[in-house]
Amino acid sequence: MRPIGVHTSIKDTLINAIFEAAELKCSTFQIFLHSPKVWEIPQWDENLIGEFKKQRQIYGLNPLVIHAPYLINLISSTPKTVASSRFLLKREIYLAEALEADFYVLHLKDNKDMEKEEIYAKTKEGFIKIEDNLHCKILIENTAKSKITARIQDLFETYEKVQTSQVGGLCIDTCHLFAAGYDLRKEEDIEILIKEIEKYGDFNLIKLIHLNDSKAEVGSGIDRHEHLGKGAIGKEGFKKFLKINELSSLPLILETPKKSLEDDRKNLAFLREILKKLES
Ligand SMILES: [Zn+2]
Ligand SMILES: [Zn+2]
Repeated sequence: MRPIGVHTSIKDTLINAIFEAAELKCSTFQIFLHSPKVWEIPQWDENLIGEFKKQRQIYGLNPLVIHAPYLINLISSTPKTVASSRFLLKREIYLAEALEADFYVLHLKDNKDMEKEEIYAKTKEGFIKIEDNLHCKILIENTAKSKITARIQDLFETYEKVQTSQVGGLCIDTCHLFAAGYDLRKEEDIEILIKEIEKYGDFNLIKLIHLNDSKAEVGSGIDRHEHLGKGAIGKEGFKKFLKINELSSLPLILETPKKSLEDDRKNLAFLREILKKLES
């Protein structure tokens, strides 16, 4: 069975994220290590980290995915921001490693005034400062609008150019694909997506799927997640996307809007129903 999970909250305690995932009968989960809008990183003692690892074992949640904060900007033209970003990235990945996380999902920043080569070089420099023998690997996520990570060709080119031993592959987000112009509701666009992955990269480089519907229309370049089946991708789009054989064993993580656990419950039920039909 492919792992299914949601982004859970560490708001009250770190362990809460595990209990939330367990309560939702998830087999994987994703967390932020702290509020994604602040630079401060939490100080967790060994006991808490030990308890987290123990509880995760008990509930059998694999993989554990950490999502990077949005502040990290390895290519900023302000040297101070680059330095803070490198420092935060490194600290985050070491903390992720201490938690025995498997993947660290990162969005790369684009800059319309900067050449691709400069973006690649600066990004890569941020990666090589991190120890290179860690279990936890960086996954680069596709984005809704960017010259380096929105279209599949650009995403694979970027991956190749910034690849270091700290980077373990790619994460594909359905909302971002849709916003970047891949109309998942259409068979022909699904075909284009498959062909582009085969032509410019390799399915094996994709390690994780973020499954989100989109509030914005196809090709909008706008990154607004919606409940599964309630957005522009809709049920037909997800049925087609989830049928892609080469992606069918990858972990699925939902980052859909969430006011309470009830929202996750509904989205997971929607997903499980589609998967059940595909399996039968
Ligand atoms: Zn995502
Ligand atoms: Zn998004």
